Formats: sequence, structure tokens, C-alpha cells
Amino acid sequence: MYEQGVIRPPSEATSLLVRVSRNCPWNQCVFCPAYKGTKFSKRTVDEVKKDIDAMAAEHRGARVTSAFLQDADSLLLPTGDLIAILGYLREKFPKIDRITTYARARTLKRKSVDDLRLLREAGLTRVHAGLESGSETVLKLIKKGLTPEEIVTGGRHVMDAGLELSEYVMPGIGGRALSREHAVETAKVLNLVRPHFIRIRTFAMHPKSPMQRMVQEGTFVPMNDEEIIGEIRLLVDGLDKMHSYFSCNDFSLNLLMEVDGFLDEKKDFMLRELDEFLALPEGQKQVYILLQRSGYYRYPLSVVKDEAVLKQVVPEIERLEKEGDGFDRYIDVLKSYQLPQPQTDDWQ
Ligand code: SF4
Repeated sequence: MYEQGVIRPPSEATSLLVRVSRNCPWNQCVFCPAYKGTKFSKRTVDEVKKDIDAMAAEHRGARVTSAFLQDADSLLLPTGDLIAILGYLREKFPKIDRITTYARARTLKRKSVDDLRLLREAGLTRVHAGLESGSETVLKLIKKGLTPEEIVTGGRHVMDAGLELSEYVMPGIGGRALSREHAVETAKVLNLVRPHFIRIRTFAMHPKSPMQRMVQEGTFVPMNDEEIIGEIRLLVDGLDKMHSYFSCNDFSLNLLMEVDGFLDEKKDFMLRELDEFLALPEGQKQVYILLQRSGYYRYPLSVVKDEAVLKQVVPEIERLEKEGDGFDRYIDVLKSYQLPQPQTDDWQ
């Protein structure tokens, strides 16, 4: 018997989940349902060690090679506690060669490079950080509780300590009015941090999110898939050809999954892929979007020219355009199904 939190990065799907703190200490981001209705708390080293003992008993004989420290901001724990937990984890699971965690940029800024280096020596290998945007205006709009300066300094601390860094970017989160600023400023911040991974998390609005009220009040105009692809193009264009892995491939809400690879090798290819989509006639874009949002992932763009596919999908699009709230609204609903549920009915 051991505790587990509700989320982990997709890249940690096979990792052991070790909960060192509960929930999110900030918990105010207006787009994020994950921990709403819960309270943050730190766990003691003894509590976590008992969990690790239980996991070791459960996995006896299995080859466990990676672990993820939950929940949203684990590095808030004292460095000494984390070192004790990392040491115990590696003692009980000697084949583990990758231990990763989420952390907020403010926490990474407060942790010294020396402390982060000690964590690396104790076995931590990678930090996942939700950057979302490099624009100060967007960060304020979404109540991220971070400034671009904190993101850059926190990110550089991780890099200077020799840890791997995975930064998560959320296209669409600035809405139509801030789209350009969001893309341009995010590229600037990433060019300063130069993380190992830049992972794309296309924004979708949860039906219970306070952002719904912003839409009604007219302070936020959501973007459709085509507009978001245009924004990603602007972001990629602004990024240096650095040795960072830009990934659309590990998140089901991303539309063009083949936009993926090291920027120093594949930036031009990625721009061509984005341009190819943007140049499609409107109807063909809708065919691709509907297929993708209905769960038919990883089709190449050329699927929109397949006569058999068109015969099935085009009448469905025509029906959606005529009935109900239309194509874009239907796509928004499909996207929202993929979001985690808040643990409260009263998300304000
Ligand atoms: S996005 Fe991260 S920091 Fe913001 S509320 Fe969700 S878990 Fe907390």
C-alpha cells in the first residue's frame, strides 16, 4: 500500500511513481484542473521510505529502471530530505538509472546550483517544468505565478547543475489577442534557457475552468486548431537552431505530431510541415483536424487526399457545420474530453 498522485508526464508512463509531496503549492493557474479542490503538503522522509518499501515488495524481481517524484513541485522539500529519498530509492531499486520530477521555476530559482548539483549526484537526472509562456502578459492572464525572469533563472540553475531540463509550452493559452506576443516571447525565453527538451502541450479549455467566464466577458478569445498551428510556426521560427529536442509527438492534443526533432537538425523540416498544413484548402484542414481529434492519431497529412477517407469524413463535417454549434465547437468538446478532471465541483 502506497500513495500515488494523479498525474505524471507522458514520458514517465512506465516509471515508478514516488509521491514525495501532495498536490500543488500554487494551484491557481486558471487552465489547470489537476489539483483543484486539494491542499498541498510535504511528506516526511519516513513516510516516503515506507512507500518505497511497499513498492520494492510489489516489484520484487521486476526490472525497474526509472522513477518519477510526484506531485507538482517536489523540489520544495529540503535538499537533505530529497537526498535521503533518492538514496533510499536507488538502494531498493539498484537498476534505476533515471529519476525525474516536476518543479516550478520559482522553486528552481530559489534552489542554488550547488543544491541542484547535490541532487544530481544523489541520482536525480531530469526536471520537468511548466513554462507555458515566456510572455509576462500571458503569465499574468493565466495566473501562472511566475515571471519570465524566474523561468530563465530557474531554468539556467537546472542546466548549470548538469541536470536535464524539459520545458513545457502551451500554444493557444494567450488566446487570439496575445498569440503573437506569446510565441515571440516564449521563443526568446527558450533561447536563453536552451533546455534539453521543449515539449508542446496544446491548450484546451476545461468546461469548468474560470477561463469560460473570461470568454463570456470577452477578455479571452480561444483559438482554433488552425490558428494554434500558425502560432506554433511563429514559435519554431523564433527558436535558435540549438541542440534542444522540440516535441509535438508525446501529447494527444497536439495536432501535427511529426513536428518533432532536434532544432539544430530539423528546424527547417518542422517549418515545412507546419507550412504544408497551413497551405491546405480549408476543407482538407477540417478533415485532418476531425480525424486527429476523433482519435485517429499519427496519420500523415496526405490522408486528406485519400478518396475513401474523404467520402466518410466530408459528410460528417457538413452535418456539423449545419447542426448544433458548428465544427469548431464540436472540436473543442472532443479536446476537452482529454483533460484531467478537477477534484472539486467548485473550481473558481
Ligand atoms: S499548472 Fe502546475 S503550477 Fe499551475 S496549478 Fe497546475 S500543477 Fe500547479
